[in-house]
Amino acid sequence: MKWKRIVVKVGTSTVCHKNGAPDLRRLEKLCRTLTDLKNMGLEIILVTSGAIGVGTNKMHLSQRPESIAKRQAAAAIGQCELMRVYDRFFMDYGCLSGQILLTKGITEDTKGRENVIATLGALLEMEAIPIVNENDSVATEEIVYGDNDTLSAVVAQFANADVLILLSDIDGLYDKDPSIDPSAKLISVVKNPEDVIHMASDSNTKLGTGGMVTKISAAKIARTQGIPTVLANGKDPGILYDIILEDEIPGTLFEV
Ligand code: ADP
Repeated sequence: MKWKRIVVKVGTSTVCHKNGAPDLRRLEKLCRTLTDLKNMGLEIILVTSGAIGVGTNKMHLSQRPESIAKRQAAAAIGQCELMRVYDRFFMDYGCLSGQILLTKGITEDTKGRENVIATLGALLEMEAIPIVNENDSVATEEIVYGDNDTLSAVVAQFANADVLILLSDIDGLYDKDPSIDPSAKLISVVKNPEDVIHMASDSNTKLGTGGMVTKISAAKIARTQGIPTVLANGKDPGILYDIILEDEIPGTLFEV
């Protein structure tokens, strides 16, 4: 096996339908695949977006609320719902899962960081899958990761992971944004994230945040700890088998 400890991040566009409702068919397959991989002896940490999207839908709003308080309320409502879905699907396959909500301050808080690292370790030892998200109801505008790409790279560092896998709504990194220029070409291997940052543009999805810039910068953070990053399409979570078990990686590999 190429890697043992794996951080998988799923974006809003993978977790939610366009209207924010959780994509149950996809989440079901994600939980089944992750449990199966865990049962093969791998250690899996899931970083999930989607709370604000799911909350927005549950509050019957057509798009993310403008005000911070309402957005945080949407996150609070959506986080419960999202965890209910994850817990239920994981339990269907006999897999324990546990929620860890982090705020950006954690990187400067030595004791807090040690606690998170210990909790992650204890959950993995119990063969549970930690499910991590940003604590949106606590985070304020000034101290916020704001996107789970960066958060997932920090989690990969904390967990001393062997690889960070970012699942998005696109097959990988292209030499330009394919939604703007359809002639864009997929890049399979990136030697240094610095060389490709100019190829990215920010997220334009209604529910998500981030975009390609934050994915490349996550790869950069992971690389500083010697952790490679894979960017691939999460529309079929079965792609994780190919990424982890096969030699040829479908998507973009950011080497270390
Ligand atoms: P997620 O919700 O999965 O985090 P995002 O919407 O944040 O997804 O980011 C993925 C989007 O980034 C793609 O759908 C694409 O439109 C955009 N993008 C911008 N530049 C690029 C690029 N160079 N290669 C691939 N995708 C890009």
